[in-house]
Amino acid sequence: MIVFERIFLYYNTLNGNDAMRRYYNAYSRYLKSRFPWRVYKLPLDAGFNCPNRDGRVAFGGCTFCSNASFSPNSSGVLKSVREQVEEGIAVYRKRRFGGEKFIAYFQAFTNTDAPVDQLAPLYDEALSHPDVVGLAIATRPDCVPEPVLDLLTDLQKRTALFLEVGLQSIHDETLRRVNRGHTFAEFVDAVDRIKKRGLYLSTHLILGLPGEDRSMMLETADRVAQMPIDAVKLTHLYIPRQAPLAQAHRRGELVLLTLSDYIQLVCDVLERLPERLIIERLMGELDGEDILSPRWEKHKGEILEMIEAEFARRGTCQGILFREGPQSDIECDPAQVQRCIPPMTAPIKS
Ligand code: SF4
Repeated sequence: MIVFERIFLYYNTLNGNDAMRRYYNAYSRYLKSRFPWRVYKLPLDAGFNCPNRDGRVAFGGCTFCSNASFSPNSSGVLKSVREQVEEGIAVYRKRRFGGEKFIAYFQAFTNTDAPVDQLAPLYDEALSHPDVVGLAIATRPDCVPEPVLDLLTDLQKRTALFLEVGLQSIHDETLRRVNRGHTFAEFVDAVDRIKKRGLYLSTHLILGLPGEDRSMMLETADRVAQMPIDAVKLTHLYIPRQAPLAQAHRRGELVLLTLSDYIQLVCDVLERLPERLIIERLMGELDGEDILSPRWEKHKGEILEMIEAEFARRGTCQGILFREGPQSDIECDPAQVQRCIPPMTAPIKS
């Protein structure tokens, strides 16, 4: 009965193209509810490094990480943030009519890995473009010290701010195996401090990491479901040609998920995540030149349709198996934890 009530709720809260995403709380729908324009993310490379690659935390980086996977500056010549924003907007407008406003996405490597007096001008440079209406900033749990959070808290007062903190798995043995350079406890601490400030927070999870079976992946979903996170990005483990894992793959030491395994796992995970959680992404890179494996020979749209078909076959949707746990990993005062995204129907910046 509860199943049908929830599905009914999904049908009745969606319209237009969003009907295609009725089984889960799609990011596209969230953007439509938050902004009065069509909004796209512009990936940027602001020249950051990562302490997990240069020896400050570890050498070499996460075993699935590849420099070439971070897109915009494939030429190797780093352009200014403003130049990247202008060129990115021009490309979007040429290819996709209707991209009216943009979120500047500081994506490459660890985008809070600098003193605040160096970070602030970079973020401001992106915001100086009249069509940039928000910032998305990707980072690691061990790179959000209090001065950085002070800066982000100030930024949130004048723009839409989306902070991304990678986790990938709650299992420390997996985090060690893929050389993440942090523990789950460090992630919990970062979430606690970020959410005390009411910042929007999404996290990244990878399905199919080496050594993980289905029960471990679902355990990650169940723990994340209890945390005051606003959004998740789910991806399958894919192997960029330049990533450390590529060598293990070439030696035949990795078992990667098949597409049908992945479809099942995605639905299993989404069923466990609360309905309020925004789903920012549902798969990793599929077919770029840099991607060694897997090559599923499907487009993103086809895979989304397969996920929806699986939900239809099961008669379920996101949140159907979610239960509020007895306690969260987070110790901060629940009254201070903003579990819901602040409503924002008016433009933040015109
Ligand atoms: S933390 Fe991010 S940027 Fe750093 S090595 Fe890992 S995946 Fe790459």
